[in-house]
Amino acid sequence: MSALLAAAPSTGELRTQIRNTIASDLPPLVDGIDHGTHYPAEFLRKIGSLGAFSTHVGEGKDVDLNPAINIMSDVAGVCGATGFMAWCQDTLVWYLLNTENETLKANMLGRAADARLLGGTGLSNPMKSFFGIEKLRLKAHRVEGGYMVSGSLPWVSNLGPDHVFGTICDCDGEKVMFIADCSNPQIELMPCEPFLAMDGTGTFGIKFNHAFVSDDLVLSHQAMTFVKTIRAGFVLLQAGMAIGIMRDCIDIMMRTKTSLGHVNKFLVTQQPEDFAAELERLAGIVQQAARMPYETSDDFWRTVVRTRLEAGEACMAAAHAAMLHTGARGYLKSHRAQRRMREAYFVGIVTPATKQLRKMLAEMAA
Ligand SMILES: Cc1cc2nc3c(=O)[nH]c(=O)nc-3n(C[C@H](O)[C@H](O)[C@H](O)COP(=O)(O)OP(=O)(O)OC[C@H]3O[C@@H](n4cnc5c(N)ncnc54)[C@H](O)[C@@H]3O)c2cc1C
Repeated sequence: MSALLAAAPSTGELRTQIRNTIASDLPPLVDGIDHGTHYPAEFLRKIGSLGAFSTHVGEGKDVDLNPAINIMSDVAGVCGATGFMAWCQDTLVWYLLNTENETLKANMLGRAADARLLGGTGLSNPMKSFFGIEKLRLKAHRVEGGYMVSGSLPWVSNLGPDHVFGTICDCDGEKVMFIADCSNPQIELMPCEPFLAMDGTGTFGIKFNHAFVSDDLVLSHQAMTFVKTIRAGFVLLQAGMAIGIMRDCIDIMMRTKTSLGHVNKFLVTQQPEDFAAELERLAGIVQQAARMPYETSDDFWRTVVRTRLEAGEACMAAAHAAMLHTGARGYLKSHRAQRRMREAYFVGIVTPATKQLRKMLAEMAA
């Protein structure tokens, strides 16, 4: 990993290189991704080889998530679905960076950080179960050298037959977090019904058919402690999706000014300048928090949760306003305003969803 760090260009140079690749390679893919006919593995591998998913691979606790969030926002600024896959990959790297299982780290961190190994995270169900929203779906029992895991997860993204993802199972009351390897024949990838958006994200239903997970794939035998370490980073990284989509919605609104400004000005409190100010406020809070993802105080966690909620709501509001500003043109299937609206709702429903975040804040207050 230190070789990877030594070879890295400065974060400014890196962002420019990746931005250039996003600008040249991603726009021609967006329609296929949006319609679910293309999963952009090659694009993810290309930006990964440039360093898009390794900026948060630091030594010790000196980790800054800002470069990862910025790059993700550049991706989401063009395609929200690909921005989400960037988050999946960044989150996988985040898990591997924080594991104390040195064998697992040595086997996978470098390959995930440069995207030779692609994958994601199946933490929606565990996250909801920890907050009393639903039951944990994966059950396991201990066997020699590992665990036998059974159960299913309805949706996990950025997957394919040679991909991996982090998730959590229950073993006699103890929660265990591990990497699931999709090439394991006992781990079945089931196609999902078509989605409204985010369809080219390599999203599958996953069935564990009494699957053996060796100790070499265990991120932590005490998942509850591990989750406390990674949870702020998991949530903060999602800001990249919200910021990127919101930035493009502001651009869409600005572009209508010449032809429709005389009437769009009556959309009071929904002007691009209003959203730009809100974006700047939120991005400022994210920037500060992303410099200290290992902070464990209750106040910090509350700020992270509240900011994630506000970022999702601002993203959905900006996309809604972009539709109103663009009018009939934005309603055309060929216009990106309607795609942005569908993508923005995903920011509001992906775990932790708006309703879960509100529940968490209500319980913290109590
Ligand atoms: C396109 C897409 C990609 C996703 N990618 C991931 C991912 O990579 N990792 C991850 O962990 N989660 C993923 N999710 C799940 C997501 O994070 C949320 O958990 C989900 O959107 C629902 O959250 P909610 O809090 O609104 O729950 P709700 O919608 O209120 O409840 C969800 C629960 O209802 C049940 N349910 C509802 N509909 C179905 C269905 N069609 N099939 C099976 N069960 C159903 C399940 O128990 C499910 O957990 C994805 C969802 C979508 C739509």
